[in-house]
Amino acid sequence: MANQQEKAPLAAQEMFLLKMGELVLKGLNRKSFESRLMGNLQRRLHPYGKFRAYARQSTVYVEPMDEFCDMDGAWEGMKKVFGISGLSRARACEKDKDAFFAAACSYLGGALRAARTFKVESKRSDKSFPMTSIQLSQYVGGRLAEAYPHLKVDVHHPELTVYLEVRDFAGYVHANPEPGAGGLPVGSGGRAVALLSGGLDSPVACYLMAKRGLALEMIHFFSYPYTSEEAKEKVLELARLVAPYCGRLTVNVVPFTKIQEDLRRSCPEPYFTLAMRRYMMRISELVARRVGAGALVTGESLGQVASQTMDALAVTEAACHIPVFRPVIGMDKEEIVRIARRIGTYDTSILPYEDCCTVFTPRHPKTHPKLEEMEEIERGYDYEILCREAFEGIERIQIRP
Ligand code: ATP
Ligand code: MG
Repeated sequence: MANQQEKAPLAAQEMFLLKMGELVLKGLNRKSFESRLMGNLQRRLHPYGKFRAYARQSTVYVEPMDEFCDMDGAWEGMKKVFGISGLSRARACEKDKDAFFAAACSYLGGALRAARTFKVESKRSDKSFPMTSIQLSQYVGGRLAEAYPHLKVDVHHPELTVYLEVRDFAGYVHANPEPGAGGLPVGSGGRAVALLSGGLDSPVACYLMAKRGLALEMIHFFSYPYTSEEAKEKVLELARLVAPYCGRLTVNVVPFTKIQEDLRRSCPEPYFTLAMRRYMMRISELVARRVGAGALVTGESLGQVASQTMDALAVTEAACHIPVFRPVIGMDKEEIVRIARRIGTYDTSILPYEDCCTVFTPRHPKTHPKLEEMEEIERGYDYEILCREAFEGIERIQIRP
């Protein structure tokens, strides 16, 4: 009992309950998905203080270890961790029917006063608890209805659902769960190199692929002085904005000026953009090999510009030997904008700095290019040397969430 007393702050403590998402379906791989998620979670919680996090069944429990923890910061941070489908702030209590009632009153008093209808739902994983979950719900629900006489029970569409959980270590009371970021833990699907420009589409593409469990290394092609320092800063800011989702990452800034100038001298104008994009693919593939990445990610959307027709995409990706993931390929601009607003990249993306793609735009770009023609044009190029040189000039910039 003395031990119980020492753990007394339990009853006063607020903590978090996180529901694991899709990874609970992963069968034999589940352990590795779970440990990936726990590692990501620990890193994401680090700036907000000392927390203890552990998983039981399909729930992750996150408890503050002292009173200096920034609970609101941690809450917002955890909403961006992929692999979590829902989360609640909860109060721990003794596993006793009256303790559940008392905790509901003190922790959810405001919500109970504000609601007109409610219900209580209990879950019991500690099978030694002396009541069934229905009995516990009825008991606590009855006492709440007495204590808050304005409240009506509505089991179908209650304004407030009070959740009670009887777990191994303690009881928990919570309400108003919020949706999590969903998806799979970052890193569980391997690593890819994402081509990040300053536009709307590529940050959204990064977010979507991180959501499917890819750890990302980013690459940006920079054509100073045709594009400004501000344009580069804008790209780094976009990387910082997606980092709370993607986790810590590196932006590889590639010196691209010499290649663009060389192309301007030697490439027939209608093929200029495509030739440039093929250079991007080749250099990105070199980076992928260096960091052990198995794919590239771009923000291309079918038909959006001349270089994104089916034929143009085919010519572009023939320059590399690993898969190119284009998660926004089938989205309208409006759909992409909606995601950009939600994840917070929109305002930065629309800042008016030039990207290298807009520096030398052909007047009549080829919309139905032929690979043989492209290869014929490139026959005279020292592209291996140019790619090597650009690759060796890469500046690597670390970004932390
Ligand atoms: P975005 O809005 O992402 O800039 P976009 O519609 O302007 O895309 P493009 O400029 O043709 O389209 O670029 C298509 C994709 O190629 C981008 O989504 C991005 O993945 C990649 N890309 C283009 N320019 C760069 C660059 N300077 N550095 C890195 N990647 C780039
Ligand atoms: Mg662009």
